[in-house]
Amino acid sequence: CGIVGMIGQVNTKEILLKGLEKLEYRGYDSAGLAFVNDGVQVHKEVGRIAALREVVPAEADGLVGIGHTRWATHGVPSVPNAHPHQSASSRFTLVHNGVIENDEQLKAELNVDLLSDTDTEVIVQMIEKNFAETNDVVEAFRQTLRVLHGSYALALIDAENPDVLYVAKNKSPLLVGLGDGTFNVVASDAMAMLQVTDQFVELHDGEMIILTRDSVTIQDLDGNVKEREAYTAEIDA
Ligand code: GLU
Repeated sequence: CGIVGMIGQVNTKEILLKGLEKLEYRGYDSAGLAFVNDGVQVHKEVGRIAALREVVPAEADGLVGIGHTRWATHGVPSVPNAHPHQSASSRFTLVHNGVIENDEQLKAELNVDLLSDTDTEVIVQMIEKNFAETNDVVEAFRQTLRVLHGSYALALIDAENPDVLYVAKNKSPLLVGLGDGTFNVVASDAMAMLQVTDQFVELHDGEMIILTRDSVTIQDLDGNVKEREAYTAEIDA
């Protein structure tokens, strides 16, 4: 299982698909991609990344995108259970690696119809509910993260705003790859990003990132900004 995300480059689709191929060693049963350009598009398929490639239209692409290879823990491998998952209005789209331990409790509290059997979909539905109350995506994401128990690497996109990619981590691997000032990437493993960068920034457990094409803002779940140096990876792609 693994996640990838990219903001700010027009060749997003190919970079995400290549990144997902590099993450296949972590295990997979299904995969998916979502882009925001003029609205959001989601493409998912059961099986390898090669199978996903066949269902993604040639013209599909976006200014921001996220991708996922799934190793199912909650719900069978299927297209509805494959990630990305969307909120009821389709405004928010999310990929998740890991296991949410209090998903049943959160589902009972939220009381909305879910389209999948995953422990993930409830997260994106909660983000939408918190957004309806706060009108602030960062705050809605933070409030949601604060009630999650378990492990997660998350990447979230907003159909109304292709200029920001929201990321968070707790007990699942995730790091940022710094671009040349016109793009940034995130992934579960540096291997997935060596195609575009060798400069990385770590994210610690219980932190979130507000990522734009030319900025990386790390915060803890109390909203405190964290400064962190990038490092150069010495690995061959
Ligand atoms: N627990 C989530 C699911 O079953 C994510 C699994 C994964 O890490 O791929 O959909």
